[in-house]
Amino acid sequence: KEIVVSGIRSTGILHLGNYFGAIRNYIRMQEEFNCYFFVADWHALTTHPDPKELRGNVYRVLAENIASGLDPEKVTLYVQSDIPEIAELYLLLNMMAYKGELEKVPTFKDKVRQNPDNVNAGLLTYPVLMTADILVHRGLKVPVGKDQEQHLEMSRNFAQRFNNRYGYLFPEPVPFNYGDDLIKINSLDGVGKMSKSENQNSTIFLNDSDDDIRYKIKRAKTDSGPQEPNSAKPDYIANLFTLMGLVSTPDTIKHFEDTFNNCTIRYGDMKKQLAEDMVAFIAPIREKAEAIQQDTAYLTRIMRYGAEKARASAAQTLQEARKLMGINFY
Ligand code: ATP
Repeated sequence: KEIVVSGIRSTGILHLGNYFGAIRNYIRMQEEFNCYFFVADWHALTTHPDPKELRGNVYRVLAENIASGLDPEKVTLYVQSDIPEIAELYLLLNMMAYKGELEKVPTFKDKVRQNPDNVNAGLLTYPVLMTADILVHRGLKVPVGKDQEQHLEMSRNFAQRFNNRYGYLFPEPVPFNYGDDLIKINSLDGVGKMSKSENQNSTIFLNDSDDDIRYKIKRAKTDSGPQEPNSAKPDYIANLFTLMGLVSTPDTIKHFEDTFNNCTIRYGDMKKQLAEDMVAFIAPIREKAEAIQQDTAYLTRIMRYGAEKARASAAQTLQEARKLMGINFY
């Protein structure tokens, strides 16, 4: 079975972008592949979260994954910081990652712009840690949203450099989505993507109440409607159709596509329908996640079980890597 690896940062409540970019694929992939899914708590440290909050978020992300349908018996579900081999591989790969290329990464440049007082080395080497996360299990397929496409290109470069220098060890990991094109869910105000830590009023979270969902969708950016039949959709309208494509029935989607194309669409009606379909989709996940999150004994058990399986796989890779690099002595 092909090896799949993917992680979600424990930086807050998960949202529709995380669900449709990542988790939805996880749930299907667990039936077909050898999957390693993890909560990326080390990655969350770049922005110096409050320790109590970080802990809570780790439990929350685990609970949301399980509530969405991930089965800890079928996949290896673990917390990144439980696997010290990832940190070791990160150190080794850092020798092959150059300052110039890391500084050019657009997400790094964004972070520098947003918070010039906290340009730490962890932030700069984020793509290296992400590469270690994947390569530590010799992962091939990486279910992610479109925002991670460039990071993965770097992962392929690092894997290739290691293989060229020391001998073949790592497959070159590729991004994966069942629908082929990687998904990007935009924020409802039309500015940027939905995100855990930004655009919170225009992001729909998996713990939003029914009324929050209705309110946010009602306020989503629209305009006075298409002026000519079969026009191209502006980004913010295309985003509403994407969301509808994910939660509504084919008949509903067709109805609004048709009315868009013949210029009779009423965005108010479309949003009302989308809001109700979204509520029906999110409410059961929210309720399940809340219940699971309360049961910390269960979550701790899952974490330990996952860590054991993940460490076994990681230790093997590290043994090979050390041997190839000449740092195995016993
Ligand atoms: P943060 O706001 O803390 O940066 P995030 O919401 O961007 O968090 P990550 O933890 O960085 O989420 O990413 C987890 C997964 O969710 C990744 O696979 C990422 O590609 C995907 N993802 C995040 N946001 C979106 C989005 N708006 N559309 C599609 N996929 C997304």
